Amino acid sequence: MPAPADQPEAIVILGSGPAAWTAAIYAARANLRPLVLEGEPSRTMVPGGQLMLTTEVENYPGFPEGVTGPELMERMRQQAERFGARIVAKNVVKAELGSHPFVLHPSHGETVRALSLVIATGANAKWLGLPNEKRLAQSGGGVSACAVCDAALPAYRDKVLAVVGGGDSAMEEALYTTKFSRETLIIHRRDQFRASPIMAERALNHPRIRVLWNRKVAEVLGYDQITGLRLEDTETGALEDLNVGGLFVAIGHTPNSEFLDGQLELTPHGYIRTKPLRTAASIAGVFAAGDVVDDYYRQAVTAAGMGCMAALEAERWLAHQGLGESPVLETADAAANTGMWRSPGADRSKS
Ligand code: NAP
Repeated sequence: MPAPADQPEAIVILGSGPAAWTAAIYAARANLRPLVLEGEPSRTMVPGGQLMLTTEVENYPGFPEGVTGPELMERMRQQAERFGARIVAKNVVKAELGSHPFVLHPSHGETVRALSLVIATGANAKWLGLPNEKRLAQSGGGVSACAVCDAALPAYRDKVLAVVGGGDSAMEEALYTTKFSRETLIIHRRDQFRASPIMAERALNHPRIRVLWNRKVAEVLGYDQITGLRLEDTETGALEDLNVGGLFVAIGHTPNSEFLDGQLELTPHGYIRTKPLRTAASIAGVFAAGDVVDDYYRQAVTAAGMGCMAALEAERWLAHQGLGESPVLETADAAANTGMWRSPGADRSKS
């Protein structure tokens, strides 16, 4: 049941990954009757976030036998619903955060007004865009965008693994895969890494990492399981086939923050900035959690933890505004305002 037409929602949560569902569970159990805008299924977007593109998740605590990404998301969603979260399959295309209550414009239907907002819209791993790539990623066929999530799975063990990219992510992924691989090949389209020197050096000095410079992946080979890569030399155009047992695509992520249209402080890469060790974003009443904030851990369990933090902070913030029950006293240092965090409605044209 929506809030009465003239009443804004107490809390609206944007997203449908672990951060969003955990925020929804906490907010619902705090009787805030959260409204979750989980996004709208389309050819390029599946509600549930990046875990919908993985198969086995073996590092989420509480599932000793493992759980599939889609099942984990479905269970979190059901848990949020069980406590009364209302879920609507809509994307927010525009947000007005300059006045309070905040106004959210979905892709269709009526606008939603919100007293507090949790943004947990995640980030998308960038893919090469090859026909076989996403299919094999979705089917657990040996293609992944997260080595920490997948490299320990039996399908990748003792194999020659390839990592595409030349940034810090690629170095990190390559180094991580060496715990399990027979050999790791970094495939980079230029003759120089973009990664920080220290990370690049670690990868270059690793005895089981070999770099194939000036190569791009022209094709991912294999039907049920990846069997190899067709590489193209970026200088000569020559093609060669390479046998590999797994591919990790590590060419960066795109945080889903464009719809904010510059209204919140972002990092240079577009991630939402929050207060240190908090989820409060740069406008009071707006909280952010999960991969739209975090370009460092990017784990389901860290996203879930941040979702919990965001809901608790929102609950406490609402209470402090006289919009909820039982204000919880902040710790002495939490109230410190660095000047970056503004009240809704503050004139940002002066900043
Ligand atoms: P990134 O720095 O943007 O690097 C992306 C890499 O992928 C580049 O080498 C790029 O090649 C390559 N690439 C992009 N599109 C490609 C395509 N279509 N085909 C083949 N290669 C492609 O991204 P990132 O490595 O994810 O890092 C993002 C930010 O997070 C950086 O600031 C990084 O320092 C930070 N980060 C830090 C750590 C850490 O400190 N531990 C770990 C991960 C990330 P070109 O070089 O030719 O453009």
